[in-house]
Amino acid sequence: MYILFLGLPGAGKGTHARKLSLEYDMFHLSSGTLLRKAARRKSAGGQVIKRYISRGKLVPDEIIVKLIRKEIMKFQEKDIVFEGFPKTINQARELEEILDEIEKEINFCIYLKVDEDRLVYRLTGRRICSNDGSIYHIKENPPEEEGKCDICGANLFRPAGDEEKIVKKRIKAGKKRTAELVEYYKQRINVETVVGTDRSPGEVHQDINEIVEKHISDEK
Ligand SMILES: [Zn+2]
Repeated sequence: MYILFLGLPGAGKGTHARKLSLEYDMFHLSSGTLLRKAARRKSAGGQVIKRYISRGKLVPDEIIVKLIRKEIMKFQEKDIVFEGFPKTINQARELEEILDEIEKEINFCIYLKVDEDRLVYRLTGRRICSNDGSIYHIKENPPEEEGKCDICGANLFRPAGDEEKIVKKRIKAGKKRTAELVEYYKQRINVETVVGTDRSPGEVHQDINEIVEKHISDEK
């Protein structure tokens, strides 16, 4: 099964996609993780990616599509949770082409809907484990020891592009794109909307689990 998360930056796509992938033994294909990893490389390509991320700009399609394609080919036999990609209609079409080649398709989308003002708060407080990608929030979900991952003890970092000014820019740019993507997928497959504003991650996760269970039993 291939599941795709839709939603604005900060809606909780990463957190919930990760949780889902662990519970259902799916591969979590996160464009954010993929790009951050690539940006750490000293190569010219890595440095180019780093510049885009730190300015809150979208990495050009040809770069991200190439990275995503490689991951899909590597993990195609597993169930996959897509998160953070596609970000544009053009990328959605590229994804469709890649999946056509291996005779797969996105089974359904989960659209995480969160009010804009909450997104800024969430993103600016976000911290990520440098080792395993666990996501924390300095107020909502702080680690037991400041700056250290609860699971593995590695240092947490603040992702590039999460400064307030950049975050606001990302959300503004993401609004139109997300709306377009939701429409695009609604015309093709099932898009399940999950409201995340003023609800705990546990409540949201429960909704997501119910949706996934429903789809699993429908497909049997
Ligand atoms: Zn960790």
